[in-house]
Amino acid sequence: MAETSLIAATLGLSSPWRISGIDFSDEEKRMDIYVEFTHGGPLLCPHCGASARLGETAREVWHHANFFCHAAYLHVRVPSLLCTADCGVSKLPLPWARQDSCFALLVQGTAHRFPRL
Ligand SMILES: [Zn+2]
Repeated sequence: MAETSLIAATLGLSSPWRISGIDFSDEEKRMDIYVEFTHGGPLLCPHCGASARLGETAREVWHHANFFCHAAYLHVRVPSLLCTADCGVSKLPLPWARQDSCFALLVQGTAHRFPRL
C-alpha cells in the first residue's frame, strides 16, 4: 500500500523495523501506526560494535500531535540488546525518536521476553 510506504519513509523506518498495520479515522483525526521489529541479521551493540543478542521487550506508545494533520499513536514492542562484551543492556536506536521527528514517548509498558525467531 502506497500510504504505508509514505508513512514508513516519513518515520525513517528501515529494516529491522516495519509497519505491520495502520488504523485510520478521519472522523477522529487519528491514526494508529503499528510498528514491529523483524529480527533477521546480526545484531550489534550500539556502544562498542560487538555482537549482541535480544533481551526483553517493552511495549511503547509514541505520540505525535500533528502527523499529516492527524493525532498519531505509534505502537511498538522495543527489544533490548544484550552486549556480548561488557556494555550490558542497551535499547535499540528508534528512528522515530530522533530529535526532529516530534514523536514523544507516551506509554512504556511491562517488559517481557522477545519471542525466538
Ligand atoms: Zn557493547
